[in-house]
Amino acid sequence: MGRMNGIAIKSRVYLDHAASAPVLTAAITAMAQAAATIGNPSSVHSGGRTANGIIERARDSLAAWAGVAPESIIFTSGGTEAIVLAILGSNQPRFLASAVEHSAVLAARDNAVLLPVDADGIVDMDALEALLREGPALVAIQHANNETGVIQPIAAIAEMVHATGSLLLSDAVQSAGKLPLPPADFIAVSAHKLGGPPGVGALVARNPALVTGIQRGGGQERGHRGGTRNLPGIAAFAAAISEPRDWAAVASLRNSLETRLRTINSGISINGAAAPRLPNISSVCLPGARGNTQVMALDLAGFMVSAGSACSSGKVAASHVLAAMGLGDAAGDSIRVSLGPSTTEAEITAFVEAWAVVANRLAPQVQPA
Ligand code: PLP
Repeated sequence: MGRMNGIAIKSRVYLDHAASAPVLTAAITAMAQAAATIGNPSSVHSGGRTANGIIERARDSLAAWAGVAPESIIFTSGGTEAIVLAILGSNQPRFLASAVEHSAVLAARDNAVLLPVDADGIVDMDALEALLREGPALVAIQHANNETGVIQPIAAIAEMVHATGSLLLSDAVQSAGKLPLPPADFIAVSAHKLGGPPGVGALVARNPALVTGIQRGGGQERGHRGGTRNLPGIAAFAAAISEPRDWAAVASLRNSLETRLRTINSGISINGAAAPRLPNISSVCLPGARGNTQVMALDLAGFMVSAGSACSSGKVAASHVLAAMGLGDAAGDSIRVSLGPSTTEAEITAFVEAWAVVANRLAPQVQPA
């Protein structure tokens, strides 16, 4: 609670970093500088060459960060476009995808064969092996999940996929900047999840010859993605990945949050808790309290979190991720709390206090007689 002109102002606490992380100052500075550069990066005059230089320096930074050649970086409008480019542009006859993929993957093709996951959200490796035996395919398995933070055993998956001559697409939109990028043929990344602005991302294609442009237009990005390049966004993306961040400290705050919530209400469960997880995401199931209602009550108390997966219209759909993990009706009783490097201990303490009130109201615990 702060004060302005003697009036108490309720402060707002942002715990939805997995939806969009706050844009870093370094990224805002880079974006403003690039936006002030006059010229289209495809023009041959000096202004165009200056603009193109900014893009190629950004490409070099991303390539060094990803451990690939600069030609492997294809700038896109974000994670969704990078995913669609890999799925449609790699032109593979068969498409396997885990049941917990982001809708960007699941909606890209209508003939995906879905791979089941266990109760912690980890892909069933036997099912993957059996399907790979039927012939080569493009396999889409995310690095880490956007709702639970669960990390897939991606090195073992990559080995299995490559042993059968198949290709692996790994959606690293949530893990990029937190974990080393996965050993996949195609990796999707997005700036707005790691401190850059929305509307810019990249497909990292180890062998770019394996992907054909879908949006061809003026042949930009070596024909892989037509359209005038987003100069300010690309410059800011490169600035964001260069900023060091302390994820171990975030993990320790997240762990303390979960311990405190469990102490308040022993009936909760943390979805995917037994699996390796990203340091910043907690998916909390409070049986009997709809996620949507919890989100609204917490918002009124000044805390921004999300329920399951929210689509662009703001409507909340039932979580296909939690349903695939076998949560049944309880899938609708979960909220996602996602932290970032800017989250403080005081914010977590305030959140825990607010959550205790909400939880007690929406799902009072039966007291022992
Ligand atoms: N994949 C995952 C795991 C995500 O969390 C998101 C964003 O919500 C996307 C893909 C889509 O990325 P973008 O918003 O950049 O299109």
